[in-house]
Formats: sequence, structure tokens, C-alpha cells
Amino acid sequence: MRRYVIAGNWKMNKTFTEADDFISDISEFIDDNEEFMDDVEVLIFPPSLYLELATDYTDSTEIFIGAQDVSSHESGAYTGEISAEMLNSMETLFCLVGHSERRKYHYETDEMVNAKVKQLLKNSISPIICIGETEKERAENKTDEVILKQLKGAFEGIDFDEDTDIYLAYEPVWAIGTGKTATPQMAQEVHALIRKWIKERFNEKISNDMPILYGGSVKPENIKILLEQEDIDGALIGGASLITEKFKAMITTAIELKK
Ligand code: PEP
Repeated sequence: MRRYVIAGNWKMNKTFTEADDFISDISEFIDDNEEFMDDVEVLIFPPSLYLELATDYTDSTEIFIGAQDVSSHESGAYTGEISAEMLNSMETLFCLVGHSERRKYHYETDEMVNAKVKQLLKNSISPIICIGETEKERAENKTDEVILKQLKGAFEGIDFDEDTDIYLAYEPVWAIGTGKTATPQMAQEVHALIRKWIKERFNEKISNDMPILYGGSVKPENIKILLEQEDIDGALIGGASLITEKFKAMITTAIELKK
């Protein structure tokens, strides 16, 4: 039985003090709910500047910290970049890859996503690979084609061994930060397609074990029905993860559903 994953992507938000207040508050909340954390995994993706702060807080708490991006290169003359080895040296356990904002504003291609996944796996960091279609692609009935192409690109040359840990996030681009959410049926359809592809590319166990999160304007008001779908194992949340009360409410919903 997969557990729920509730992940907060802060994007480029929060000052150091705001980050400190948030993590301290949420750590206390998770400590109070520790008995449920076998069923619900909480991940936070702060800006990389705050990884040390967040990791220190959550050392003794059941919250896992991840980076929002990583370089596709190993090391060297890449000003401004952060390598997977550096993230590993900061005890970072997860990293988002291929977020639609990186694809759109930083021209990240499937090949770059694949190179990043390889760097992360080499450094024992679990990638959360984000995929999703644009509004135009959905209107042109190209959703499946786009999803399969992104999957194929991201997993090129990737093999699983017992330590390989990869999550996926289906994030329709038209639903990110727009207030528009995919209907639970729309999301479930794509999640099922993804799981089927993973089964065919790898095997049934890997596809059954792989957490597939939904992202795109998830909030306390709509998370329950999304999590109730068979192949939705959690949520990658942007805007609503910035407010502690909303983030706590969504974790609470996941806990309640597992009871
Ligand atoms: C995201 O950043 O991955 C995201 C889904 O954002 P939002 O929840 O704000 O749509």
C-alpha cells in the first residue's frame, strides 16, 4: 500500500525569517502527528538558500527536505548552478526535476531532465520528475502523446536497482498557479496512463510502488477528492503550501483518509 505524499513547492518565495517561522511551526505540527507519519510523507522544497536551515529543523522530525532544481552537469564552470553532489553534501534527500516553470522560463528539455535525473540518482537523491501538458496540447487531444514523450525522455537509460527511488508528478501546465484544477477523473486518467507506462517500461512492482503526485492549484478545498483517486498518491502544492494553516489542513486530510 502506497502512502500519501504531501509536498510543498515554495518556488521563489519567503525571506529567511519567514522560512524559519514556517519550518518551526510545521515541525511542531508533524511532531504532534508523528504516529500518522508512516501513512503520510511530508516533503518541503524551499529555495536552495534555505536547505541547511530546513534540514537542521527537520533532522529529528518526520519531514523531508528537497531542492527545487539541480544542475545537469557534474561540477565546474557553471556559474550559479548547484550540483547533485553539493545537494547530497547538504543532506538533501529529494529534488524536483522538469517543473513546468523550469521548462518554460529556463528552456529545460527532456534531455536535460534526463541528465538531471542521472546526476541525482548517482548522488543518492530521489528525483521527483514533473510532467504535464499545456492547455493547447490538451485542446488538441495531445495529452497522452506529450506525457509519454516526457516520460520516455526522462527515463532514457535509467535502470532500477533496490536503492532507486523515483517519484513522478503529473502537473498539467494550465492548472499550475491558475486556480484551474484538473477534474479528479482527468487527473486519474493521466495517472493511470503513467502507471501503465512505468509497468511496461520496468515492471509491475516498480509501477505499483512508484508515488505519482498530482499538482496544479491543489488547496484544502479540493485535495480530498483528488487523493481519493486510485492512482493519485499525493499532491505537489505550490501556492497553497506557502500558508502554514493551509499546508497543515492538507496534511490533516491525508491523515484522515488513511485512518
Ligand atoms: C507547483 O508549483 O508545482 C504547483 C502545482 O503550483 P500551484 O499549486 O500554485 O498550482
